[in-house]
Amino acid sequence: MNQDKNNVLTEISKIIENATNIALFCHIRPDGDAIGSMLGLGWSLEEMGKKVQYVCPDELPVQGWLNPQTIGKNTRFVKAPEPYDCSILLDVSTLSRAGYFFEQPNIGQPDICIDHHVSNSGDAKINLIDPSAPATAIIVAHLIEELNFPMNKEIAEALLSGIIMDTQGFSTSNTNPDSLRVTAKLMEQGADLYWGIQNILKAHSLEAAKYWHCGLSKLETRGKILWTVLTDTDRERSGYTGRDDAGLIDYLASTEGFLATVLFNEQIDGRVKISWRSRPGVNVAAIAEEFGGGGHRQAAGADVSGPIGDVIERVLARTENGVQSAEQ
Ligand code: 5GP
Ligand code: MN
Repeated sequence: MNQDKNNVLTEISKIIENATNIALFCHIRPDGDAIGSMLGLGWSLEEMGKKVQYVCPDELPVQGWLNPQTIGKNTRFVKAPEPYDCSILLDVSTLSRAGYFFEQPNIGQPDICIDHHVSNSGDAKINLIDPSAPATAIIVAHLIEELNFPMNKEIAEALLSGIIMDTQGFSTSNTNPDSLRVTAKLMEQGADLYWGIQNILKAHSLEAAKYWHCGLSKLETRGKILWTVLTDTDRERSGYTGRDDAGLIDYLASTEGFLATVLFNEQIDGRVKISWRSRPGVNVAAIAEEFGGGGHRQAAGADVSGPIGDVIERVLARTENGVQSAEQ
């Protein structure tokens, strides 16, 4: 462990030791890693006798996350916290990704941020950022081990769910030996890998399958880019209640012969959620940042205002440019 990381862990340990009421924050439109990291750390803190608030600024996803009730926990998520004496951001790359909360006057700087986005802007007092970790849940698992915080089957299951989601079942290009070592340790604590892969990654509703059909029926190509659109009408037709893409982008990204995949997802407020996936060599995080978003080199997103036709044109033109530079 390098000295810097050692100091950061010592600071985190001190802050947590002195806190009694800790608010954990994940990012807007949370995914399995945001929620799994929050639950894993939160349940460990609760075992230490801390009061923990689980702040999730948006609706929870329809699928692809560990619902505490499925493992017998009655953890409650809130949209905004009651007063707290310590705040921890998880999987949050920049303050605006935590929703409006930290943008209000007199809220102050968050105490701790634990994250794996390369673009993390280090907005907390203490920042534990490791861009080489394929999931924030992996950083949390290391933190729990290194600070001797409580670990049990439920905590392990929550963290494993985050790892499974962000590595797409250990299939992303950033999956490394450490991810597998951490996973092995979580399995030794009782986390069920088979259950996680089936339920976090693969399980989907009939409505989600119909929603995928809408997106699949509109597939288009532009050079080495594969792209499609999901609209409000698609949600109505299929009966899918989520605002996300039900994981369609990750299926499309495996289509042979393409270097980048883009999905445009129409939102209620006239905005468009864009998801990019790419093959190594095409850095979609850099493209997403130009549209006010961010993410990882091979998986990134942005949320821009419509009209959707203009957004599609601008985004495809820029992505084509990125793909062409990679091909040279
Ligand atoms: P997804 O396409 O699955 O929503 O997101 C892929 C990756 O991009 C995730 O790591 C997520 O954190 C990041 N991401 C998605 N949407 C946004 C966004 O609007 N802003 C930023 N900064 N990152 C995003
Ligand atoms: Mn993540």
